[in-house]
Amino acid sequence: MIMKEKQISEHIWKLEFNFYFLIISIWLVKNNNNVFLIDTGISKIWEIACNSASEKGNIRGVILTHGHSDHAGGVNQINAHNPELPIFMDGRDYEYSSGENPFPGRKKVEKIISAEVPIIDLRKINKNDFFELTGLKIMYTPGHSPGHTVFYHDNDKVLIAGDLYTEKNGLLRPPMKQFTSDMPQALLSGRQLFEKIDPKIISVCHGKDVNVPFDFSKVV
Ligand SMILES: [Zn+2]
Repeated sequence: MIMKEKQISEHIWKLEFNFYFLIISIWLVKNNNNVFLIDTGISKIWEIACNSASEKGNIRGVILTHGHSDHAGGVNQINAHNPELPIFMDGRDYEYSSGENPFPGRKKVEKIISAEVPIIDLRKINKNDFFELTGLKIMYTPGHSPGHTVFYHDNDKVLIAGDLYTEKNGLLRPPMKQFTSDMPQALLSGRQLFEKIDPKIISVCHGKDVNVPFDFSKVV
């Protein structure tokens, strides 16, 4: 596994972990001296990400784009290591990542987040306070999973897109089909999102970042 760290804008770093043919990314977002992890990757890379984050400032929270194991897989260990650290996620993914039900369209139940880990539901927090704290706007983009959420850094004009899209040959592509709960809804979420924001960079978890403008017709 090779880790590449790149600063993609004034406040945002992307850690890319290369597992054979799959890239899994974690983002670090800095606001004043506070640093937030966006996603945790799979369970074994959380520590590398936390070390890199603490070089940049004080780690103040973990924010999840959704509850799949390659995004939320480090939550249990991070919580065991630092129980005080707040962990944010849209609550609509919780019944799936806590192992109550399989994700829609999947057969296997996966227990990704253990019951002892307190999760702060992004739906229930004050969005202005969250923006003050992180510099990020919360944008709900269901489809890849029922709670899928992306984060827009207003100042840097960077969209932290999670699995809203993947990337291939410099183009945005739909998310991986076999892991997507509702593909038409996922693609609609993307289209509606770009009516609201005007990012310069779209940063996806499983691929390279895409600079805007891009040919949007090629996504679908
Ligand atoms: Zn996913």
